[in-house]
Amino acid sequence: MSDKEYTAGDHIEAKCTKCKDVTNHTIVAMVDDKPAKVECNTCSGIHKYRSPTTKKAAAKSRTSATKAAKINKIETEWEDLVQGADPTTATTYSMKMSVKNGELINHPSFGIGRVISVTKPNKMEIFFRDGVKLLRCAIG
Ligand SMILES: [Zn+2]
Repeated sequence: MSDKEYTAGDHIEAKCTKCKDVTNHTIVAMVDDKPAKVECNTCSGIHKYRSPTTKKAAAKSRTSATKAAKINKIETEWEDLVQGADPTTATTYSMKMSVKNGELINHPSFGIGRVISVTKPNKMEIFFRDGVKLLRCAIG
């Protein structure tokens, strides 16, 4: 049905903001073979054509699902990294701390993480539950 070619004057189902419903409309103007302006047969209001299907909402939920999957992946990697580690042995983070690669860090905001790389003179990357953070440190 979506393959039907419309012309001005045709009847089409569209969303009406006044009726707050999908109602029958008459096409007033076409742009690129698609209805652009429609007249509501219920309230006679003329407005932009809105598809009765909620394509936008579907696309949006797909995006957040992808995002959730990505976060899940990070959490799984993080769990692998800190697995078996005793959180009580984690070093509390401070900017002046001296770290080694692989050290377990307890950060006041990010939580438990593991040092995955250290860069001279004073930077380290730590893998926390919500991803990798670049933090300052002293290299031991
Ligand atoms: Zn209407």
